[in-house]
Amino acid sequence: MYDIKSMTKKELEQLMEQLDQPKFRAGQVFGWLHQKHALSFDEMTNLPASLREKLAGECTITRLEICRKLVSELDGTIKYLYTLPDGEHIESVLMRYEHGNSLCISSQVGCKMGCAFCASTKAGFVRNLTPSEILEQVYMAAADTGKKVSNIVMMGIGEPLDNYQNVLRFLELVSSPDGLNLSHRHLSLSTCGIVDKIYDLAERNLQLTLSISLHATSNEKRSEIMPINRRWKIEELLEACRHYTDMTHRRISYEYALIAGVNDSKKQAEELAALLHGTLCHVNLIPVNYVREAGYEKSPKERIFAFQKVLTSKGINATVRRTLGADINAACGQLRREAENRN
Ligand code: SAH
Repeated sequence: MYDIKSMTKKELEQLMEQLDQPKFRAGQVFGWLHQKHALSFDEMTNLPASLREKLAGECTITRLEICRKLVSELDGTIKYLYTLPDGEHIESVLMRYEHGNSLCISSQVGCKMGCAFCASTKAGFVRNLTPSEILEQVYMAAADTGKKVSNIVMMGIGEPLDNYQNVLRFLELVSSPDGLNLSHRHLSLSTCGIVDKIYDLAERNLQLTLSISLHATSNEKRSEIMPINRRWKIEELLEACRHYTDMTHRRISYEYALIAGVNDSKKQAEELAALLHGTLCHVNLIPVNYVREAGYEKSPKERIFAFQKVLTSKGINATVRRTLGADINAACGQLRREAENRN
């Protein structure tokens, strides 16, 4: 069976050719899937009945089901827990800003990366999401709220660069003029630092924002909390980032989750400023979200602002991320874990 919502328009054209259909049928099918969000081939009324039947026999149309939906009373943030066609669960979080809706999406069921502070990785890795499952999170959120998703952040469950081919295909589909037509400028991709894929991405010169989860300033500390650092050291990661900005001229966003007593000292702020000195960057300081198994605590507010002050005084642009959806546990991975634990 073809996963037809994961197919590019070009591939649909090839499929139509195999089925002895004119090329324009591919555009029609693509529109039904990615603009009208048809749930079945029966709905595709401008296709001949014989073709609809044939497609129904050879293709599946991926659907997600909303398993749970939590709405924050504080700020309207919506957290979705979806059931995938095989019964697995993933999460998306819709954040409402003045400039539009921003959706945080998952790229894998679980994660292999093993970051010490992250809930998404605690139960291990199950499988990659298909391009259509990644895309469908965007379509579902828009349909459920009746509002356009204007920004996408790939910061949900999973490591996007560990599901690289499917993520690339998602990036192509989501920006297709015949589909959602979302500019890559409105999309961020966050990685723990899969260096070889960062080089590959640089060659593609996409206009997306690359976010790097850095979280530590020494290899010793980073390797302790992020196992990926044992494979690629901070220096190798930052070298790849430099190459990325050279190629794309896009500013890189560095994520730094402040954990009390672990990575939040003034000295570490100075080290971070030194590491990033002279690069095209922005630092996003995140008070770490408490995850039961990890036991890490948020840095106190004063310490977070002191950390930020050191960075800005050294010419590094840094902001502190606002917490959204605090009452619905909107940090990624937590709802899925609850669902899995219940089963
Ligand atoms: N695997 C990717 C994307 C998913 S995680 C990555 O590592 O970037 C999205 C962001 O949330 C990352 O910056 C990650 O390090 C951060 N994160 C994970 N657990 C967190 C926690 N408990 N508190 C704060 N940030 C966390």
